[in-house]
Amino acid sequence: MAIKNRYELDPERLATTDELGARVYLYPEDIEGKWKSRRIVLYWFLIILYLSLPWINVKGRPALMLNIFTREFAFMGMTLHGVEPILIFLIVISGLFFMAFLTSIFGRVWCGWTCPQTVFIQTIFSKIETLIEGGARARRALDESSWTPNKIMRRTLKWICFTIVSFHIAHTFIGYFIGPRALLAITLHSPLENLGTFTAAMIMTSIFLLDFGWFREQFCIIACPYGRMQSVMMDENSLVVAYDKKRGEPRRGLVPRELEGDCINDYACVRVCPTGIDIRRGTQMECIACTACIDACDDIMDKVKKPHGLIRYSTETELIGKKHNFITTRSVLYFCIFLFFISAFGHFIVSLSKPALVFYRGTDSPFQVTMSPSAKKIITNHFTLKITHQGSESFNLKLEVSEESLRKKIEIISPLNNMKIEEPEIKTLVLFKFDPDILINGSRAVKLNVIKNGITISTENLVLIGPGLNQ
Ligand code: SF4
Ligand code: SF4
Repeated sequence: MAIKNRYELDPERLATTDELGARVYLYPEDIEGKWKSRRIVLYWFLIILYLSLPWINVKGRPALMLNIFTREFAFMGMTLHGVEPILIFLIVISGLFFMAFLTSIFGRVWCGWTCPQTVFIQTIFSKIETLIEGGARARRALDESSWTPNKIMRRTLKWICFTIVSFHIAHTFIGYFIGPRALLAITLHSPLENLGTFTAAMIMTSIFLLDFGWFREQFCIIACPYGRMQSVMMDENSLVVAYDKKRGEPRRGLVPRELEGDCINDYACVRVCPTGIDIRRGTQMECIACTACIDACDDIMDKVKKPHGLIRYSTETELIGKKHNFITTRSVLYFCIFLFFISAFGHFIVSLSKPALVFYRGTDSPFQVTMSPSAKKIITNHFTLKITHQGSESFNLKLEVSEESLRKKIEIISPLNNMKIEEPEIKTLVLFKFDPDILINGSRAVKLNVIKNGITISTENLVLIGPGLNQ
């Protein structure tokens, strides 16, 4: 019979709740190993990326920004104005199916390797905690001790450091939505001048502080929607962090020594687990695939001179000795759906890159008739032209009558011909002066070439009118 200890978990309840349902705080031990080293490199890369992206300018715009107030989206030099909800829907649904595709092959790779919660807790918050309160045992002892000046001092210092870090994370987060310059300007003024942004910053700081400093694994276990959904996306061919039962069992202490498997039942894998589970019980929803138990077990295997990999990345099919396929019908299906939505997104982006022109006929008088110096009748139609475009580059736009035979008979007068278009939306006046001869029963449909920087990019249809239709 195994010796009962705090790491021998009750099979009937979560590791993080006691028999009354109250939270059991975890004190995961730190472990070094090849998987930890790989994760830390990636974590720091992601943190630096997160903190610097809003400050990096590409073609004069932040490398990544979604300004919800002006509906402006900037990504690596591409700027979209007046972002349509359909675009947001397409990018979100594409992201979801891409995640489903990755999960179906690599399991919870998001949780263990790239989730902001894991990245910030493992890299910054746990480090601060260890530095101020000590390792897992010291932290547990401090928690269980009474409130001495030493405990008050350490706790206060820890939460001050947590608050400073959370403050910075929250401000960077807001920088993605309003742009870094606006954020900097706001932080240099009194909070009362920007009460809305200040309140948002305080709420975000509180959320990060409570989650990364206190709630931690509870979020993964009870609140994260992705954690709930992952079992639907995975199957027996998905990569998981798994214990090799065939090799490990029967574990030490359950049978005579000569019949034992490789597991020495020292609970090292449980002691390092940030969600407090025992991976030897099989794949569990609480496992965030952080690989800490792999490093812990490999360390034990080194000590008992056994090969690494008693706990390793594997699949259920591989563990029962069958050949497994990484690419399954499920993963192909997820990828196809992802391709469909991302292609639709790409199609919208390409169509948005052309300027959109809308002509509004002048409402005061539909046309005017004047006489030229040579006493010839000239008809004038005037329009207000609205031009909207995506992108941040300025350009020239010209209008030209498509039919060569009409070009000499229709004169287009507009400030457009001498202006650079820089704003995402402009309105300008366009006058069409023409010979009444071109009219057929008082009107004439004409086609206009839209020429951007000297290249014809589209054709617009317009109806010119004159006497005969209204007289
Ligand atoms: S079982 Fe292993 S991989 Fe899963 S969360 Fe715990 S330590 Fe991380
Ligand atoms: S770390 Fe390895 S040897 Fe130790 S209890 Fe876990 S599985 Fe067994």
